[in-house]
Amino acid sequence: MTELAAPPVEERTGVKRISHWIEGRVHSGESGRSGPVFNPATGRQTGEVDFATVEEVDQAVQAAKAAFPAWRAVSLAKRAELFFRIRELVSARREEVARLLTAEHGKVLSDALGEVTRGLEVIEYCCGIPTLLKSEYSEQASGGIDVYSIRQPLGAVAGITPFNFPAMVPMWMWAPALACGNTFVLKPSEKDPSASLWTAELLKEAGVPDGVFNVVHGDKVAVDAVLAHPDIAAVSFVGSTPIARYVYETATARGKRCQALGGAKNHMIVLPDADIDMAADAAVSAAYGSAGERCMAISQVVAVGSVAEPLIAAIKARIPNVKVGDGLDPSSEMGPLVTRQHRDRVASYVENAPGEGAKVLVDGREGAPADGFFLKPSLLDDVKPGMRAYEDEIFGPVLGVTRVATYDEALRLVNDNPYGNGTAIFTRDGGVARQFQFDVQVGMVGINVPIPVPVAYYSFGGWKASLFGDRHIYGPEGIDFYTRGKVVTSRWPDPATSKVDLGFPQTR
Ligand code: NAD
Repeated sequence: MTELAAPPVEERTGVKRISHWIEGRVHSGESGRSGPVFNPATGRQTGEVDFATVEEVDQAVQAAKAAFPAWRAVSLAKRAELFFRIRELVSARREEVARLLTAEHGKVLSDALGEVTRGLEVIEYCCGIPTLLKSEYSEQASGGIDVYSIRQPLGAVAGITPFNFPAMVPMWMWAPALACGNTFVLKPSEKDPSASLWTAELLKEAGVPDGVFNVVHGDKVAVDAVLAHPDIAAVSFVGSTPIARYVYETATARGKRCQALGGAKNHMIVLPDADIDMAADAAVSAAYGSAGERCMAISQVVAVGSVAEPLIAAIKARIPNVKVGDGLDPSSEMGPLVTRQHRDRVASYVENAPGEGAKVLVDGREGAPADGFFLKPSLLDDVKPGMRAYEDEIFGPVLGVTRVATYDEALRLVNDNPYGNGTAIFTRDGGVARQFQFDVQVGMVGINVPIPVPVAYYSFGGWKASLFGDRHIYGPEGIDFYTRGKVVTSRWPDPATSKVDLGFPQTR
């Protein structure tokens, strides 16, 4: 008797199976290893994502390698045309992917749409690839000799991405990589993997050839296989600092180009002359938006001098108005955290705060919706260096306040912090703001702007433990990262003037 094949996992459990994308089609994983995907608003499992083996990663890399020669030869005009088509498709279907983000990450739909729109801006920047790849030409550098530079793609490159921006952060990578003529292997977060397959299908529909964009899902096994693969020329990573450091050290030790963006602890300094309401609005928005799961979230307010009392009162007054709920409900402003484990870890900072000497002014564990992975906004006062709530990246809706007496003390706190991703200053004094911009040891600075994510035609990146590597991501530095320079020295002499000359080439 022939045995019937087991029905697909969806039919057995109502849970969708999420597989790899290799050479233009879905590739069901064969490792037997997989991980659960949840709807954080309900706490229910909605998906099961395949984890790739070393061999499956190799298949994806081989597909990217095979697609590279033809893809790099596609004219700039055609690549630009393709990017305009990708731009139109993403723009038209942004709500579709935003719903996927809300379903697996938990962020509210308006925030998910915002994520897609900021990613779209990077795609729009890449529509200008013919201009972005223009190089330099020096005529008559020496007698009859011209010199010019060109930038060429690297080959098959890889991106490893975090859970908190499942559509936008991959766009920061694949858009410039492909526009520059590279082929791509994406290893997205295993917590919310569906947006990557949505992207793969969209790129195929736009006309991107099979093999140019591939997706492998998984955990450390897949990441290590990418890092070990001799045919991967460059790795872009965004995630937590310990893994960023590991990825950077491993990739560069193997001769790969690498940019690895890590975690953050973003301080917002509020000076006594700041507009209190504006500063409080900004602090609440930047601390609790996306449930604090943003690498540019404000997690620490530094209140200088007399501003502390009125500022804390204004922040506290706003917190009960933040509507926490399912991200698909249009009235929700803040959704759940990504997993139960992460929610519990974030809650532990509130629980431990009094023992460390901080005050819990608002406890987000109280009144949070029972289903799903919810935590409401929390506010801690008197948070100081040395406390876990100060030192760690909490990555949740917990805002700490540190009180200092002077601007110099506030600046020292920011500069002493091991992270250097984002920071902001709120003041009406242009001179102090300019001095702050000059002095602060952080890669992205906001002046009365709490989340200073650079626009797509600048580059994004922190300093210190927030970025390993020397090039920031997207924008001009992204184009630089995904290309390498070649300089051509050219002469078209009259054969009649040719002679043997063993001297070192002279220019004068
Ligand atoms: P994470 O470091 O846990 O995971 C990032 C990626 O690394 C995922 O694809 C994951 O599968 C993989 N990974 C996890 N553990 C690994 C291991 N031991 N070995 C190899 N690979 C491993 O990060 P996350 O929790 O998904 O994302 C949140 C973090 O990302 C926060 O620290 C946040 O600040 C950071 N982040 C930084 C930026 C930035 O631009 N600097 C942007 C977004 C998120």
